[in-house]
Amino acid sequence: MTDPHRQIVFAGGSPWAAFSQNEMYKLAGESSTGPLHIRVLFAAMGKMNAFGHAELRVGELARILGTVTDTGEVMACRRDSVSAAIKEAKSRGLIAPESKARCLVLRHHIFQKSTKDRWRCSVHDLD
Ligand SMILES: [Zn+2]
Repeated sequence: MTDPHRQIVFAGGSPWAAFSQNEMYKLAGESSTGPLHIRVLFAAMGKMNAFGHAELRVGELARILGTVTDTGEVMACRRDSVSAAIKEAKSRGLIAPESKARCLVLRHHIFQKSTKDRWRCSVHDLD
């Protein structure tokens, strides 16, 4: 029997492609990738589970969106800038309204993941 969580099926049989989550996460951390709300999307893509939830550690998104100094030190992004980036990503439909700094949520009609790994989201109390 086929595990439904290992299948990727978009409405109307829409074509789809795959991406490296490691590369998406890496792009999220690079300022040259673009504005913060775009980097929020990349962070979500890099960490999403089979349910589209990208659970992050406390302060992780601020560090991802931060800047790297000439000495290689990571300066975390300000909390209000992180909130503004999440809000902008939501308003553009890049992430779901229930997203927050601890868990960015991607909609199933846009992003799906084929995996045998089944982990929950403690932020949204999702099993
Ligand atoms: Zn979640």
